[in-house]
Amino acid sequence: MKSIKLNINILSLTLLTFAVLGTFIGSSASSILVSKSNLENNYLVDNQFYAQKLADTTDSLFKDMVKNLRIESQEDEFLTKDPETIQHKLNTMLAATSFFNATWFVDKTGQVVSAAPHTDLKGRKTNTIGAREALRKKVPLISEPYVGLNGHLIMLISFPVYDANGNYTGFLGGSINLDENNSLSNILGEHPQHESGSYVYVVDSKGNLIYHPDSSRIRENVKDNEVIKKVLQGKDGSQEIVNSKGITMLAGYASSNSSVGHWGIVSQTPKEAVLKPTIELTKQVSVSTLPFITLVYIITYILLRKFVKPIRDLAAYAQQITENKVITKPHIPDWYFELKELKRAVLIAFDFYEKRANYAENESNIDPLTGYFNRRYLEKTIKDLDIYSIILFDIDHFKKINDQYGHILGDEVLKYVADMVKTETREIDLCFRIGGEEFLIILPDTGLETAQMVAEKIRKSLETTNSPTGKPVTLSIGIGNTSTMTIHFEELLNMTDQALYRAKQEGRNKTIIASDQ
Ligand code: GH3
Ligand code: MG
Ligand code: MG
Repeated sequence: MKSIKLNINILSLTLLTFAVLGTFIGSSASSILVSKSNLENNYLVDNQFYAQKLADTTDSLFKDMVKNLRIESQEDEFLTKDPETIQHKLNTMLAATSFFNATWFVDKTGQVVSAAPHTDLKGRKTNTIGAREALRKKVPLISEPYVGLNGHLIMLISFPVYDANGNYTGFLGGSINLDENNSLSNILGEHPQHESGSYVYVVDSKGNLIYHPDSSRIRENVKDNEVIKKVLQGKDGSQEIVNSKGITMLAGYASSNSSVGHWGIVSQTPKEAVLKPTIELTKQVSVSTLPFITLVYIITYILLRKFVKPIRDLAAYAQQITENKVITKPHIPDWYFELKELKRAVLIAFDFYEKRANYAENESNIDPLTGYFNRRYLEKTIKDLDIYSIILFDIDHFKKINDQYGHILGDEVLKYVADMVKTETREIDLCFRIGGEEFLIILPDTGLETAQMVAEKIRKSLETTNSPTGKPVTLSIGIGNTSTMTIHFEELLNMTDQALYRAKQEGRNKTIIASDQ
């Protein structure tokens, strides 16, 4: 896995970024949160207030419509039973106010005597819900929404007409087309908060929509809506509610209950829209602070470079001297006191450790008792040699010497043997102590015969000389040579070791030549 290399530049800039982002997010979040709950409350209150206002407006509109019909119904024209006269009257009525989309006079049998502007419907029998109810009840009525004789989705406002003798002659009707512009939608459509996604809708006493900005929903029954349930119970209030499209709304609602009818009005705003202005403001603030932040970044970067570059140079220098690479010393500016001192300390420490290291390395190659190279050094040496012989020997029955004379004298014997071997070999021969009392001599550029001769000389000298114990020691010796066996050092050593083993087997104090046969 590739690890990410952090440097002070990146680290500092990252920290700066966190600081800037943190401040920004923190302050915007808190201002958004504070304004959110305030705004939500405001919207709830405003919507309720607005719904109440519209409830009053709706109520007076319907009252005015009923009143208009009541006054007109007393006019003599309706008693003439003359369709032309009545037609004329209906036309005048329609033109005089903006209440109705159509005016009607229907006789008690349900026949349309005249209709404006629908002159073509004259003489038609009507059996619509509104007409049937008006004829049956013979009282002022406001119908629920239904499809009228004119093909429109209408609400019929009707007023009974009686003759001078008090006989019922039919009803005078004004209808509003709910599926197009009408007096109700003209009032409610001037809703001031359209851009926030707010809207208003109105239901009749049975929960049928009689006004909704989505005209396709008019006449839909929504009495199961939580808010509508309350409105139909005559309650006013406000609450959060999820609308038919699954959007959470802050709804205010109000009902109107008057002599002419019963309506419920709901004014609502998407909860989401509440935060829009705040978020917009936050965006503007962030855009306007962007140049400033960029400037801060640039200045920070320049300063960082000035301060950090010498540190990095020094770090790189420190890293490379520990890897034994020679590079030029970093330049530290004079004003950078701390770093100058640090550089001095690094150089002094390095010098000190270099000396120590060299010393330790030499030390670690040498066996302190005999002054011979140790086994560790063997591997390094052997690479540089071409043709050579090796002599491997082990002191015979050394354990006995230890047992008999003690360990300290044992060591003396080891030293004695080592010294003896040194005198019998050349400067260029390399002597190793590779085990407790096991030694290896490498004889460079030396053939087998010479090696054998040297080995014998050593063996004989020891055999005939008293050691520190007062008695001679003997060796068992194996000899190996690279020219007789083209093999690796490890194998050569292995075979020579086997030769040494055989020398032990065959009675000790012997020299055996290794061979791969
Ligand atoms: P062999 O003829 O079979 O080699 O008999 P040996 O007694 O020499 O047997 P072996 O090689 O197994 O024993 C070596 C002994 O050398 C065991 C250990 O106590 C002793 N020895 C190893 N290193 C040192 C040392 O540094 N100093 C002393 N005094 N004794 C050591
Ligand atoms: Mg041994
Ligand atoms: Mg031994």
